[in-house]
Amino acid sequence: MSGSSRPPLRPSVCIAAEGDTHQDSRMTYVVTENCIRCKYMDCVSVCPVDCFYEGENMLVIHPDECIDCGVCEPECPAEAIVPDSDPAASDWIGLNERYAALWPNISVAKQPPADAAAMDGAPDKRNLYFSERPGDGDV
Ligand code: SF4
Ligand code: SF4
Repeated sequence: MSGSSRPPLRPSVCIAAEGDTHQDSRMTYVVTENCIRCKYMDCVSVCPVDCFYEGENMLVIHPDECIDCGVCEPECPAEAIVPDSDPAASDWIGLNERYAALWPNISVAKQPPADAAAMDGAPDKRNLYFSERPGDGDV
């Protein structure tokens, strides 16, 4: 895709080093590390309010749009979606909020990456593979 409209990129190490400490009274679900380079998109198909946003190699949930229904959580083959009350969400709440504001909305599932199964459960995905680049969204 064209890179002309992409926001400025920052090194992924900066993102990995930031503390995602934002949390307030809103309840939401959060996409976490194992989505990176798996991106199966089963979650997109079931969300009743279309609150997923697409990066180059993962999705995030918009915290102001998620209605906390929980439907997506069991649908994720990578078990990457957790409620924000889960300890596994703590490092990802800020990232979901930040990139939901930058990446395009996606409401229709696409084909996952060819190596999605091989990347399922791979270690240290955030440091090794996280990309700030937006995905294509609904096109
Ligand atoms: S189903 Fe899971 S792995 Fe696939 S895009 Fe949604 S959160 Fe990511
Ligand atoms: S919890 Fe419900 S509203 Fe929130 S992202 Fe999942 S399916 Fe969408």
